[in-house]
Amino acid sequence: MTTPITFDLKPSTQPLPEADRAVALAEPGFGRYFTDHMVTIRWTEGRGWHDATLQPYAPIPLDPATMALHYGQEIFEGLKAYRRADGSIVTFRPDANARRFQRSAARLGMPELPVEAFVEAIDVLVAQDAAWVPSGAGQTLYLRPFMFATEVGLGINRPANEYLFMVIASPAGDYFAGGVRPVSVWLSTDYVRAAPGGTGEAKCAGNYAAAFLAQAEAVRHGCDQVVWLDAVERRWVEEMGSSNLYFVRGTGADARILTPRLTGTLLPGITRDSLLRIADDLGYPTEEFRITVDDWRRECESGAITEVFACGTASVITPVGSVRSADGAWTIGDGQAGEITLRLRETLVDIQTGRAEDRHGWLHRVA
Ligand SMILES: *Cc1c(COP(=O)(O)O)cnc(C)c1O
Repeated sequence: MTTPITFDLKPSTQPLPEADRAVALAEPGFGRYFTDHMVTIRWTEGRGWHDATLQPYAPIPLDPATMALHYGQEIFEGLKAYRRADGSIVTFRPDANARRFQRSAARLGMPELPVEAFVEAIDVLVAQDAAWVPSGAGQTLYLRPFMFATEVGLGINRPANEYLFMVIASPAGDYFAGGVRPVSVWLSTDYVRAAPGGTGEAKCAGNYAAAFLAQAEAVRHGCDQVVWLDAVERRWVEEMGSSNLYFVRGTGADARILTPRLTGTLLPGITRDSLLRIADDLGYPTEEFRITVDDWRRECESGAITEVFACGTASVITPVGSVRSADGAWTIGDGQAGEITLRLRETLVDIQTGRAEDRHGWLHRVA
């Protein structure tokens, strides 16, 4: 259906000196340093995708009336490149990110970038900036594809007719360098992240803008993260911050692994999807379900729910230790990272880094 997009390669004549890069890679943190290059592809109505270019990382001049700045047509993705023990570099399920990006685009009235072009854009950037893929334990190169409306004008009551797709890359440190630490969560009842018919399923900037105030409220209540409830009844548990949630009922060989069903208001996480399959591989029964706040609390107090964790590309898996709301607080299990939580985390990371067999064909070789 598409003619392949060819990338014009214009590498930097002044990449960061190796010694400076080594300083960044020694303690990358998250989203602080950016690699030497970026990829850009333009889309114009009537012409389609054009001018795919790899070029030096640089600011992008924008007209003050650029539509994205006023009406919020912006979507993004997040995925990682991993350096394996043999020095090779892989990305994890980039085609799944490409398809989700298409769905986000469709929801925001934006053009859909072909899956092959999305994957190729990442390959071109990672191959060029391969020296930026760190090799320390837990370190990765975080990739941020995104797209926004570049048409200029304010009096427009339709989707823009011009867009810019870009990919930038940033080295990322080990999220849990000091060991996996459980988080405390605040149940947000004043604010909602997504309502039926809204943009909850799309990875769009506006969802994040709408979330910051609730996250700040969570912090004010002494919690690390906010948990979102459904917009209609305000009692069905949906997500934690920008991660999906998992619940474990029972222990050991009798454990069952559950995650809230994708109702249209949850973001369909690729980590979430991968863990459903990994749990199955490990022999745990899995289920997509719905759970209310009241049942979450009751089942923690009765001991029926033994572990809860959140998952997403950035942290992989984060254990949830305790919950707080306007009505009180409770602890999950002993408040520490659970056994199954840690087992699932290790299994997924082992696949990503090549220590375990990639039986689902999730890894994509880049260099
Ligand atoms: C990105 C995101 C996730 C996690 O998705 P992954 O593909 O696993 O990284 C979950 N919830 C929200 C709201 C998100 O934006």
